[in-house]
Amino acid sequence: MKRKRGKGGKGMPELLIHVAVPLFVLILAGVEPKKALPLALLGAIPDADVLFHIHRSMSHSALVILAPCIPAIIFTHFKAKRYFNDAVIATLVLLSHPFMDMFTGLTPILWPAFNKSVFITAEMTANMNDISNLHLLFNLKLAPVVFYPTADVDAPIFTSEGVAACAILLASSLFKICNDRSRWRNRRFILIK
Ligand SMILES: [Zn+2]
Repeated sequence: MKRKRGKGGKGMPELLIHVAVPLFVLILAGVEPKKALPLALLGAIPDADVLFHIHRSMSHSALVILAPCIPAIIFTHFKAKRYFNDAVIATLVLLSHPFMDMFTGLTPILWPAFNKSVFITAEMTANMNDISNLHLLFNLKLAPVVFYPTADVDAPIFTSEGVAACAILLASSLFKICNDRSRWRNRRFILIK
């Protein structure tokens, strides 16, 4: 059966990408995998609005995300210093979601301060018969913020392209984890000797 797909711009970044990209960045930055995974999972939280049958709602606004995050960052800075880095990372992971969504469809990134949804197109295509025939498209589309109820359409949890990209990102993360561990083991071995 041919299934209906969402129309929010050209599509939505799939849930898998919203988790895999932050996970890759955190592991690359040296965050412990057992800490990086729960932090990366936060990247999917803004899409929880579909549970309320509305998508790209206020959960996709950077200002709404920052409203609880900034007090949490300030609190940890003064009262729970050891969680300060986690609070900053969690905030950045949450913000990465609407940032990525903005490139695939109208996103109310600055709602309610700015009552327009933003959709950025940044593409370049080449003609298959004449690769010097390049088309560059950069477009910034603004439209009034409207929170539509979700229609009866399928939203991608993952797609073939996403699985391929995530497989490469996760393989690179695993390589880094194994590499770091073997370096650490060798260093301990030298110290013990
Ligand atoms: Zn989203």
